[in-house]
Amino acid sequence: MNKAIFKFPETTKTNWQDWHWQFKNRITRPEAPGLFLNKSAAEMERIKQTATVYPLAITPYYFSLINQDNETDPIKRQCFPDFQEILPDESPEDPLDEDSHMPVPKFVHRYPDRCLAIVTEICATYCRHCNRKRFWSAPRKISLKARLPQMIRYISANPQIREVIISGGDPLTLEDHVLEELLVSLRAIPHVEILRIGSRAPAVMPMRITPNLCRILKRYRPLWFNTQFNHPQEITKESSRACNMLQEAGIPVSNQSVLLKGVNDSAEIMKNLLYGLQKISVRPYYLFHCDPVRGCKHFRTDIKTGMAMMENIWRQCSGLSLPQYVLDVPGSTGKIPLNIMSLAIKKDLQKHQHFFDKFT
Ligand SMILES: *Cc1c(COP(=O)(O)O)cnc(C)c1O
Ligand code: SF4
Repeated sequence: MNKAIFKFPETTKTNWQDWHWQFKNRITRPEAPGLFLNKSAAEMERIKQTATVYPLAITPYYFSLINQDNETDPIKRQCFPDFQEILPDESPEDPLDEDSHMPVPKFVHRYPDRCLAIVTEICATYCRHCNRKRFWSAPRKISLKARLPQMIRYISANPQIREVIISGGDPLTLEDHVLEELLVSLRAIPHVEILRIGSRAPAVMPMRITPNLCRILKRYRPLWFNTQFNHPQEITKESSRACNMLQEAGIPVSNQSVLLKGVNDSAEIMKNLLYGLQKISVRPYYLFHCDPVRGCKHFRTDIKTGMAMMENIWRQCSGLSLPQYVLDVPGSTGKIPLNIMSLAIKKDLQKHQHFFDKFT
């Protein structure tokens, strides 16, 4: 059996619950003993090469969710470097053309009333399917301190912006006081009505959601929290607790999954994920079709397969558990909903049309 018996440094119950400990003890070297087993020297070489291009980071907590008896474990697939990431790939690094919609470095303004601030390039765990791999794989990072005044100036000068998305990287890798400074400056702009935080912390480092963080976030409401669970195995006691703490602070938590081959591209797994989220009161918001980003080809399904899966789900699942399956495209049109294009749904509609026509 290929059991990875990775040894964490001295762990106690207390430091396991401490997000700083989790962050500091992230697995970052593919050659860490016990991480990859039964790999030939050539395979190990390719894995190391992959991690040179796209770094490796896994929190001990996220690693502990792996079922080591499962060769194709969905957690492992999301966080272990795979040489397929560096195979020749025609896909662009920035398919959404975000880089040409940055009036300020690392600040994306694609839709008139919403903007997205990349406040850090660091994440607790690097997702192999990330659509912003180009940021965290680049060695040069610009500090937030240097960019924040520019961002604030831009938002202040653009009154059509009513919602600011605090994103990354993972903004919750920042310290509480840094986040608070950011929230204070954004809240000081009168036309910014809504704040939104995008963070995978509840799934990959749930101990980051502390009482102090919740106290801070609570002060800057309306603040919406979007996270990313991709597989039911990620819904644990700890992650439910994290979401519950946010909810108790009056912060709605929604989920944005990515449709990933070998992780959640079956109706059964997707249904378990959606029902699992509904059970912890997290609203499934979007299911993203995997962007055509370089280094993610092995995760991509085709749209037809995604639509067939979503139609299956739509026919059997509670409406409260249904995300909108969307395709992100460059430009300012917004995400394109894919499920409404389903032929079957159109057929159903046609079947009922004459009934409604009678009464209108
Ligand atoms: C997705 C996205 C948003 C938010 O879009 P919603 O449909 O409101 O969730 C805003 N800005 C950018 C650049 C985005 O990619
Ligand atoms: S947490 Fe988000 S930004 Fe970070 S690697 Fe994962 S998908 Fe990308």
